[in-house]
Amino acid sequence: MGRLIGVVLSTSHQWMVRAGFFLGLFVVLACATAGFGLHQVQVQLEAAAAAQLKKSAATAEAVQALFVELEDKVTAQACSPAFLSQMRLVAMRPDGINEMIYMPNGIPVCSANFAQFDTQINLGPPEATEFSDRLSALWLHQPLDDLGYPGMVGTMLRHGDFAVIVPAGTNEPQLAWAEQAVALKLSDGRLKRVDVAATPWPFDASGVPYGSPDELLPRLWHVRCQTDGNVCVSQTTSIAIVLNQFGEWIWFGLIVSALAAAWLSGLAHGMLRHYFAFEARFLRNFTADRIICTYQPVLDMATGRINGCEVLVRWRDLDDRVVFPDQFLPIIEKRGMTVALTRFVIDRAHAELTANMPPQRPLQVNFNVCPRDLDAATLLPLFNRFDLDTGRFRIVVEIVETEAFDFEKVSRAIDELRRVGIGCYLDDFGRGFSSLHSLAGLSVDGVKLDRSFSMAADASLLGQMLPEALAMVRHAGRKTIVEGVETEDRLRMLRATGLVDFVQGYLISRPVPIQRFVQVLTEHDVAPRQPATPVHAQGTVVALRR
Ligand code: C2E
Ligand code: CA
Ligand code: CA
Repeated sequence: MGRLIGVVLSTSHQWMVRAGFFLGLFVVLACATAGFGLHQVQVQLEAAAAAQLKKSAATAEAVQALFVELEDKVTAQACSPAFLSQMRLVAMRPDGINEMIYMPNGIPVCSANFAQFDTQINLGPPEATEFSDRLSALWLHQPLDDLGYPGMVGTMLRHGDFAVIVPAGTNEPQLAWAEQAVALKLSDGRLKRVDVAATPWPFDASGVPYGSPDELLPRLWHVRCQTDGNVCVSQTTSIAIVLNQFGEWIWFGLIVSALAAAWLSGLAHGMLRHYFAFEARFLRNFTADRIICTYQPVLDMATGRINGCEVLVRWRDLDDRVVFPDQFLPIIEKRGMTVALTRFVIDRAHAELTANMPPQRPLQVNFNVCPRDLDAATLLPLFNRFDLDTGRFRIVVEIVETEAFDFEKVSRAIDELRRVGIGCYLDDFGRGFSSLHSLAGLSVDGVKLDRSFSMAADASLLGQMLPEALAMVRHAGRKTIVEGVETEDRLRMLRATGLVDFVQGYLISRPVPIQRFVQVLTEHDVAPRQPATPVHAQGTVVALRR
């Protein structure tokens, strides 16, 4: 699941997500189209079976009626002129069955067209005799030469002393792409195929088509019987034949499915992207369990020891990637969720620090707070859990000036916080809104110099402004934290100014999880850095200009 979400979220895998959508939708649409196509084939098989059954049943009924009529109306002496004319009268029927033969004991003697057959005609054994009382015998594919139709074959049905010839064409296949079978029921219930000689009814006893052994795909079929069940018709075809027969339609269906899948996959992908857009998924998952706190040590220049840490927040994304605050803080600020963030961070840091820090080791803990949340009524209940009176943890608020703020309100809050022992620093001093005006007007403990100063090259303007900025803060009677210290050179240089109270930066440690932080702390406590020797401020500024 995590891997799947990772793929969905990753920008480089979007083509895979889209392709996945396309393939999935294409398969679904192609299957739906195939299902519809097969259904249509089945509908056509059913319609063809119904049409053929109607035709075959009508013939069967006509033959039955004809035998009744022959027995009723052809009563003169056998094969006499009166007998023949009675037979001809019966033969004048609209159903096309007008060839009838007088054949007592199965031996043709005379017919409506032939007063008397010259020779004794041997019809050979009939195809079937086991019909109930409706028929006595059936000859399929019977040569009719001797019966007066040279070169013709036909189906002969016998009942009592008479036989009739069913004209060809009654069982013509209804569909070019399906095999048709017409059957009559035998007295034992089996079906006897009556459209093609010597060919069995193509279904086994359970009604499943035999199908040839080399047929890999299943067969499609439909069987329909007359209500009394005496005549049955079936239509069967194979998928292979259907594929062959409807090739153009299949291509058409595939192309339409592909086009529809391309369009729908675009829509679905767009919706997915919208759903999993960073802001949307962050807002859905901004919960305490996804908040990660990291701790970056702060070094006290006077002692060379780590005296505290800054708590820096991260958010765990759905794919477990760690997201840095620059990505989600703008959303938090835009949506007015800063207090919730501060609460999550304080709660988590409190739980982790109390659980992991050696109890006897005091620590200053710096939290980042936006000016809009700088309100004692909001913050004190949150910080109170640190048992401020015990002195184990000293709390410092770094005021992150990312926006213009209500000076009066912030000033009041700083006073109230400091009254209960919570330190207040101006963060990112020298950048954005964090100005000299704030330094002069707010009773903060100190400032955290923006890291653009400490990271600037010596020769750059910012680099050259660094000593002056430090001197100015010192002159205002405030403490200074310099962040962004990455090299020994820079630390040495800051130490030489004698104007820096605390430093923080990758040189000492990156922001790390609590367990690693406690490790770094322990290692440092064993081997502290060299403390800064007090230097006269004025002299240092000159020295730094080099
Ligand atoms: P910040 O308060 O200026 O935090 C210091 C940032 O500098 C951190 O970035 C830290 O990782 C980075 N940093 C520290 N030492 C060095 C270094 O030697 N070199 C360089 N290049 N960078 C260094 P991070 O953690 O990405 O935090 C960015 C900002 O997000 C913070 O800037 C702070 O304004 C804000 N932030 C972090 N945690 C919180 C929080 O819990 N609440 C609020 N409101 N804002 C927070
Ligand atoms: Ca900060
Ligand atoms: Ca900063």
